Amino acid sequence: MHKKLFIPGPVEVRKDVLEKMATPMIGHRSKDASALQRGISDKLRKVFYTKEEILLSTSSGSGLMEGAIRCTTKKRAAVFSIGAFGKRWYEMAKFNNVPADLFAVEMGEAITPEMVDDALSTGKYDSIFVTHNETSTGIMNPIEEIAEVVKKYPEVVFCIDAVSSAAGSKIEVDKLGIDICVTSSQKAIGLPPGLAICTFSKKALERAKTIEFRGYYLDLLQLYNFIQKKDYQYPSTPSISHMYALDYALDLMLEEGLDNRFNRHIEMAKYVRAWAKKYFDLFGDEKHLSNTVTAIKNTRGISVADLNKELGKRGFAISNGYGDLKEKTFRIAHMAEMTLDDIKELLENIEDILNLK
Ligand SMILES: *Cc1c(COP(=O)(O)O)cnc(C)c1O
Repeated sequence: MHKKLFIPGPVEVRKDVLEKMATPMIGHRSKDASALQRGISDKLRKVFYTKEEILLSTSSGSGLMEGAIRCTTKKRAAVFSIGAFGKRWYEMAKFNNVPADLFAVEMGEAITPEMVDDALSTGKYDSIFVTHNETSTGIMNPIEEIAEVVKKYPEVVFCIDAVSSAAGSKIEVDKLGIDICVTSSQKAIGLPPGLAICTFSKKALERAKTIEFRGYYLDLLQLYNFIQKKDYQYPSTPSISHMYALDYALDLMLEEGLDNRFNRHIEMAKYVRAWAKKYFDLFGDEKHLSNTVTAIKNTRGISVADLNKELGKRGFAISNGYGDLKEKTFRIAHMAEMTLDDIKELLENIEDILNLK
């Protein structure tokens, strides 16, 4: 039996979107490929509220995160971490020999604008990396306030991991001065995994030009130059199947209306939070809760693994806590094409299995 996925990626994919993956192939050097990829970039610019370039990579989101830290850091990177994925960005720097410092808070907390100001005011950094929505803890950083601080430092390239929030929560890239905003296909966008997306500003472009060793496959400058010269074609063969599905999914998204979509996510988040407070408790700083995934504190000491087994028999899957938070928390994702009715159905089944009523 198929289990409906309430895990924070990969998410449940609509049947009609999945079917677009089976569209017959076209040559990746054809005019049709150019038109498809150009159209996708035009639509993505709306989703990200940007006039800047969009880059696609046939990799998961981590690919463009790695590309971003290599291609924008000449001096030193300031990496702000509030959980597993923030730490990952720092490790990417370390293993690529990119000078970087890690600024971390306890799991469940958010970054403060003051922390960012303190770090950048040292003048040591020319790039900054912030997780918008930390999937391991269900915390969303106050990106608008952080952006205000980053604007004081025009030499700093501003990179955001919005892998589990873009297209589920409003991120106005140009207004916030974000130079690179990275996301993946399998989270709030609602596609199968395998495609990464980022925005790429002129400032990021100019910085990349000054860096000698940017890698090859994930060299953002090469991706940028190639799509300018070859009308939105990519240097190596991209996942054309994903392009078909993405193009279609973006049409659905724009049809729904971006604000409606973001409000739907907020509505689902509020419902899950209220439910969590009634039967369990919320994990983390309640001022900074995520709109796309909720981490619930396991105050009843239930076996999350057993709960998930029972849910599986009924055709649902949720997520255990991440890493050390396993069994201490569990996570319910409410992103992409999920509706409030889907969420209610899941929560009623949990109540039934745990005899909560
Ligand atoms: C899932 C996730 C990633 C990793 O994305 P992949 O597509 O699996 O590489 C990075 N950051 C966050 C916040 C995520 O949720």
